Amino acid sequence: MLDSLPLLFPSDFPSIERRRLQTLQVNLGYRCNLSCRHCHVDAGPKRSESMSSETIEAVLAFLDRYPTRTLDVTGGAPELHSEFRRLVREARGRGLDIIDRCNLTILSEPGQEDLGAFLADHGVRIIASMPCWSEESVEAQRGTGVFAASIAGLRQLNRLGYGIPGSGLVLDLVFNPQGPALPPSQCALEAEFRRELGERYGIVFTRLLTITNMPVKRFGSLLQSTGQFADYMALLKSAYRVANLDAVMCRDLISVDWEGFVFDCDFNQMLGLAIEQGARRLHISALDADALEGLRIRTAEHCYGCTAGQGSSCGGALL
Ligand code: SF4
Ligand code: SF4
Repeated sequence: MLDSLPLLFPSDFPSIERRRLQTLQVNLGYRCNLSCRHCHVDAGPKRSESMSSETIEAVLAFLDRYPTRTLDVTGGAPELHSEFRRLVREARGRGLDIIDRCNLTILSEPGQEDLGAFLADHGVRIIASMPCWSEESVEAQRGTGVFAASIAGLRQLNRLGYGIPGSGLVLDLVFNPQGPALPPSQCALEAEFRRELGERYGIVFTRLLTITNMPVKRFGSLLQSTGQFADYMALLKSAYRVANLDAVMCRDLISVDWEGFVFDCDFNQMLGLAIEQGARRLHISALDADALEGLRIRTAEHCYGCTAGQGSSCGGALL
């Protein structure tokens, strides 16, 4: 795989600083049942990196020391981690809102038959990848058979109450473009998804979140190998909107990797740009969240992916 990191420096991205921590995003590992083309984590069935029990304890100890509002659990497919459910129970017991970044197909994997019910019982908010309502587009990006399994997953979640108004069970869908283009208007696309998924499959959901593809890992490598990296960066930079700068997710989120090291965001994690104290990487077991406030965020050219157009974050558009 071609590394994007050397192409992201030097950068003229504006200097930004952290605010008070609200969200702890935890990456449980890189194992996934899929191998999507756009995956910025480079996850797949052959990856074996997985958070240890000791590091999960360190995450929980951090939540005891520093109660954040939200625990955002990601991967790979986080549900494949043997301690995923323990982490959810423990965090719920501490009163946190919990997000599961779910690829939908995992709901029909052997051994995961009761996953949907577990998530519903614990009031977990699901953010699910669904790049299109068309089978052809989804499978071009995510692989054969993924579309039918995703629809089956959505139907299962709807049956459990997810996405049904008044149920309290939130089902958000995530759209990202097929290639080196900015996402369309989140608002307009949400209306389109609602109509198409409703009419074709009887599926309902809470919100659609659009996310810009970041020029790192698998997608960054694809851009390089097809000679499109420079043009994509130029597109992101030409669409820069200063108003997005105040809302980028790294202002109040930290991302913890499977080994427990702390990053400004998931993308910096994939690039190996850790939050440092002196020359040492910060570990969740030693993290003083109060000391993060005011700290300069490690930015580079990829950050233009968060500030282009309507903006982009793990929670969708910013504006
Ligand atoms: S994009 Fe998500 S579902 Fe696809 S390989 Fe990466 S982690 Fe797995
Ligand atoms: S890529 Fe990460 S560090 Fe850069 S602006 Fe986006 S969230 Fe912040």
